Amino acid sequence: MRISKLAKEFIPYKVVENKYKIYLDKNENPFDFPAPLKEKIFEELKNVQFNRYPPITAEPLREKIAESLGLKMENIIVGNGSDEILSLVPKLTEGDYNIINSPTFVMYRFYSKHNGIKVMDIPLDEQFDLRTSEIKRYADKARIIFICSPNNPTGNSLSRERIIDILETGACVVLDEAYIEFSDKESNIDLLNHYDNLIILRTFSKAFSMAGIRVGYGISNEKIISHLLALKAPFTVNALSMRIAEMMVENRDVIEEKIKFIKSERKRLLRKLKNYAFPSDANFILVNLPVYHFLLERGIAVRHFDEERIKNMVRITIGKKDENDTLLDALKEYLNEMDRV
Ligand code: PMP
Repeated sequence: MRISKLAKEFIPYKVVENKYKIYLDKNENPFDFPAPLKEKIFEELKNVQFNRYPPITAEPLREKIAESLGLKMENIIVGNGSDEILSLVPKLTEGDYNIINSPTFVMYRFYSKHNGIKVMDIPLDEQFDLRTSEIKRYADKARIIFICSPNNPTGNSLSRERIIDILETGACVVLDEAYIEFSDKESNIDLLNHYDNLIILRTFSKAFSMAGIRVGYGISNEKIISHLLALKAPFTVNALSMRIAEMMVENRDVIEEKIKFIKSERKRLLRKLKNYAFPSDANFILVNLPVYHFLLERGIAVRHFDEERIKNMVRITIGKKDENDTLLDALKEYLNEMDRV
C-alpha cells in the first residue's frame, strides 16, 4: 500500500485534548438549548423511525428553511454541516484554480486541495477587505471565488460594493455567511435576485447552537442547486439532525436572546481589549497578542495560527460571562507581566 501525498501532507486540525477549563477555540455558541426546548425535542424525536432512511435531500427541512427566507425549496441545499456543501462546490464549475483571500476559513483551501484544484491566494488588504482589482484580474479562469463575510478569523464584514464588483465578473462566488446572525450589517442574500453566479452558505452550528448536530445549507438559484444536488451523496443529513433543525427554524426566537447577549459580551471584550483587538461582526474576536500558550497554561483554549500574517495573534470565541471574565483576568495578568519586563 502506498499512502497518497495528500493523506501524508495535510493535517487539517490539531486535537486539543479534553483537559482545559474553558473552550473559546471553535466559535461555538457557549449556550446549549434551553432545557424545556431540549425536552420537547427529545419527545418529538421519539416519532422518528430509525429503520427508515431520511428524506433523500432533506426535503422537509429545505421547505422550512426556504419558507423562513421567502424562497422555494428548490433554492436550498442542506448538508451535514455547511462543510459538506463546501466540499461539493469545487466540483461544480470548471476553471484553473479557486481564489481565496487569506487570512480566511482554512477549509476553502482544504476542499480545493482535496479536489485536486490549485489555490490562488489574493490576501485581504490592510483593512482585511477584498483586493478587488487583483481578484478581477484572475476571475475569468477561476472555478470558485470563496468570500467569507463576516470573515473567519478576522471577524470583519467585507464591503458589499467589493462583493458586487466581484460578482459582476460572472465567476462563481461562494459567499460564506456562517456568522451573519451576529452581525448588525445586512446579509447579502438579496444579491441572489441579481446574480445567478452567487451561492450563499449558512449554518446551524453557530447562532443556532447546533455545532454537534451538523446541519448547514446553501442558498442559490434553482439551476445551481440542482447541479449541487447532483454532486451530493444521498442521505448525508440524518433524520434526527434534520428534525432538530426543522424545530429550530420554527423556534427561531429562542436564539435571539443569546445572540443579543453574545453581541453585548463582544462589545465588552472589544472595549477592554481595544488596543489589541480587531473590530468584529461575528461571535469571536481576533486579538493581536501572542497569548496562546499563556492562556492554555491557565486552562483557556483559544485558536492560534501558523499563517505568517496572524501568527502571533489569537482568535477568541465569545463565551459565557464567567468564561469571558476569566479570560480578561488572564489577559490582564499577561499585560501586567509584560509591563514588568
Ligand atoms: N464556514 C465558516 C466561515 C466557518 O467558520 C465554519 C465553522 N467553523 C463553517 C463554515 C463550517 O460550519 P459547519 O460545517 O459546522 O456548518
